[in-house]
Amino acid sequence: MTATGTDAQAAPAHWAQLDEGCADLARRARGYLDEIAPLLPAAERDRVLPVEILPGLLDVGFVRGAIPVRDGGLGLSHLQMALLMEEAGRCWGSIRTTANILTLVAELLSAAGSSEQKQRFLRPLLAGERMGWFALTEPGAGSDAASLSTLAERLPGGSYRLTGRKAYITNASYGDFGIVLATTDPGLGARGVTAFLVEHTAGGCRVEARPQLSVRAASCCDVVLDGVVVPGASVLGDVGRGLSLAMSAVNSGRLNVSAGCTGIAQAALEAASAHAVSRTQFGKPLAAFQLVQQLIADIAVQANAARQVYQSAARLLDSGADGRLECSMAKYFCSEAANQVATKAVQVFGAAGLMEGNVAERLFRDAREATIPEGTSQMQILQIGRALLGVSAVR
Ligand SMILES: Cc1cc2nc3c(=O)[nH]c(=O)nc-3n(C[C@H](O)[C@H](O)[C@H](O)COP(=O)(O)OP(=O)(O)OC[C@H]3O[C@@H](n4cnc5c(N)ncnc54)[C@H](O)[C@@H]3O)c2cc1C
Repeated sequence: MTATGTDAQAAPAHWAQLDEGCADLARRARGYLDEIAPLLPAAERDRVLPVEILPGLLDVGFVRGAIPVRDGGLGLSHLQMALLMEEAGRCWGSIRTTANILTLVAELLSAAGSSEQKQRFLRPLLAGERMGWFALTEPGAGSDAASLSTLAERLPGGSYRLTGRKAYITNASYGDFGIVLATTDPGLGARGVTAFLVEHTAGGCRVEARPQLSVRAASCCDVVLDGVVVPGASVLGDVGRGLSLAMSAVNSGRLNVSAGCTGIAQAALEAASAHAVSRTQFGKPLAAFQLVQQLIADIAVQANAARQVYQSAARLLDSGADGRLECSMAKYFCSEAANQVATKAVQVFGAAGLMEGNVAERLFRDAREATIPEGTSQMQILQIGRALLGVSAVR
């Protein structure tokens, strides 16, 4: 059985639209994810990330694929990376979100890291020897990330002292370093924000895990920076350019979530279909009832539409286009679609779909998360509105 509760199948029909290289990549990813899927029930129940699976994920192209060959990556296309994320979303949301954050950290190190920083953080991350997290959000600065208040005071000698609290940081309890966004000058707003590399061994850095509804094998943490002193060499990129650095990875983050949500929709389709043909009521399989067929048809249509939307955004990025509008559209559409289809999958299962350990229950919880990080649905709508109308609704 696979993570979606169905028997392992031959290549799915939608892979026929892919070229051979892409289909082969998706096949290898699915093969590895099917191999690790038996770890899922206990990991989700116990809320523990099985970090031993990371080298295998990196081997099939996760994270490494997004990084250029010159920095030790595989230099895969946006479409290829998104296909990997669809497979991760179909199998296991906690793995999808873990791969997404590691990819973000690797992309920022590759884009802005000094050769020493790449040697110390990026190379071991790509080898599965180190794990990083990314800390932008704060209790008082969520969608309005530029209003962050974590302070980076420059000390005599060029080091910095970081003081503040970061919130909802994925996998900070598993990582051994993170990228922290802090302001060197609150008066400068966005232009005062700088990215710092912070190691857990730095005195004054404390991680507090916060149990969450979704993606339970991944952790969601507050990171408390209580006067953490870091050397000047831990600035990632330029002083005052931290937010633009973070924004340079915004397209791939949104695309990753979109593809992962399509994976959720695909898993919902497979699980709901398998249940509908195997469960009998009124002397017939559920699949024979037109209203159940409607639920499943709706799930299939949404999964297919989500796939087209994220793949078209990925192809646009691969063509060299800006793609910001299309990635926002994809993030908005696919994350909302995942929520709609996961609700329908629960409906097909009836009470069983609400029980812990049921695949529809997990998909429902994992889908719920997707409309919030990487820019909420509302922020995507405002981004789309600004791109179409030329007017910002925010500032
Ligand atoms: C599972 C998970 C993992 C996360 N991982 C990370 C991580 O690794 N690193 C990190 O830095 N952050 C992370 N986050 C934080 C995430 O980026 C923020 O939750 C997100 O940016 C929204 O901020 P907020 O939760 O404070 O909501 P708020 O900004 O307070 O928004 C609350 C509601 O108001 C709406 N809203 C806000 N402003 C507007 C507006 N101008 N117009 C209309 N509606 C508006 C929002 O859409 C939302 O519905 C994670 C969050 C989750 C749930």
